[in-house]
Amino acid sequence: MASGDELKRRLTILGSTGSIGTSTLDVIERLGGRDRFEVAALTGNGNIPLLAAQARRMGAELAVTADGDRYGELKDALSGSGIEVAAGRTGLSEAAERDAGWVMAAIVGNAGLGPTLAAARRGADIALANKECLVSAGSLFIDAVAEGGGRLLPVDSEHNAIFQVLENDQRHAVERIVLTASGGPFRTKSLDEMQHVTAEAARAHPNWSMGLKISIDSASMFNKALEMIEARHLFNLRPDQIEVIVHPQSVVHSMVGYADGSVLAQLGCPDMRTAIGYALSYPRRCDLPVERLDFARLARLDFEAPDEVRFPALRLARRAMEEGGLQGAVLNGAKETALGAFIEGRVDFLDMAEIVEEVMNDLAGLPAATSMDDVFAADEQARQAAAGMIP
Ligand code: NDP
Repeated sequence: MASGDELKRRLTILGSTGSIGTSTLDVIERLGGRDRFEVAALTGNGNIPLLAAQARRMGAELAVTADGDRYGELKDALSGSGIEVAAGRTGLSEAAERDAGWVMAAIVGNAGLGPTLAAARRGADIALANKECLVSAGSLFIDAVAEGGGRLLPVDSEHNAIFQVLENDQRHAVERIVLTASGGPFRTKSLDEMQHVTAEAARAHPNWSMGLKISIDSASMFNKALEMIEARHLFNLRPDQIEVIVHPQSVVHSMVGYADGSVLAQLGCPDMRTAIGYALSYPRRCDLPVERLDFARLARLDFEAPDEVRFPALRLARRAMEEGGLQGAVLNGAKETALGAFIEGRVDFLDMAEIVEEVMNDLAGLPAATSMDDVFAADEQARQAAAGMIP
């Protein structure tokens, strides 16, 4: 608990109604809630009842729905609370701009890029769950954080693991990083078996409880593909320094290999609250009631090489990294469009990678981005090209 003269930490959660957003609020409440933290802004999209309930519970200053048509609904749900209400793209910007030292970036997809960038530019510490920021904008996003002067704190469990074991004064001795992948629900399925799987089957992740889109991306391994590109920018690595290993238990969250042959790993039960808590209390560690690892019960840890034939997303990520330029934005824009079509039942599971590859072929050779406008334009081009391939 905070003593009377201790300043409360002011924070904002972009995407508070999602899987990461609700886990973040859970961590905040366990670490003292309103006694220790002051919530500047919370944002959501369609889940107005949850957003309103969170804002009231936390005494947020501002609540924002990204859906401009839902402004009235949110206003009604918060009437009498004194909480300010905003909506749409300008509302999201207002939330990101509001003075808060720590911002959780947990909006799903490319929709998170604009607000996260705005928070980074004004110098907030960014707890980054939204991997699409780095996949699409790459070094432009890193530069925006550096210019703003805040810290970039990785929340994705693999990147958080690497952040925890990366010895910053030994960066010259880092040979490689190894991202672990659970392999998802179709790890042992053949291509034939995967052809007609449903979105419902694809979202059933064996170890992690996550939002719909990232769960399906885990099944196709597009999530790992995005993470490879994210890691490249986050830790300033060459593509050949980034390895992926399938590890079905999701206990080793990722590893760093050094020049002396040592490999440092971070382990834990699969619970995003550990990574969120680390990003919130960095550089200290906080006390969290997550399940502890029981090694005797665990008994074994398995590792296997990923299969890039059954999971072509990994090959496409490597290609995007090697070609550079705007291929990250192209891969992500095409992937988001193909994923939306798969969720709606308009394309089959394996079509997603084919669509992404074709769009990458069509848009190969786009020059490197010099501004965020270039990134948004490439994203839009990729979405349109992908949409043209979907019946
Ligand atoms: P969810 O789908 O559970 O939540 C997404 C959040 O974004 C919700 O608050 C949602 O609002 C909001 N949202 C949806 N569409 C829009 C939009 N167009 N504009 C603004 N806000 C929108 O996702 P997750 O929490 O699972 O993931 C969030 C991000 O974190 C993703 O980038 C994901 O890749 C990353 N991540 C997630 C992990 C996890 O364990 N879940 C692990 C590592 C990274 P509403 O619900 O009100 O509609």
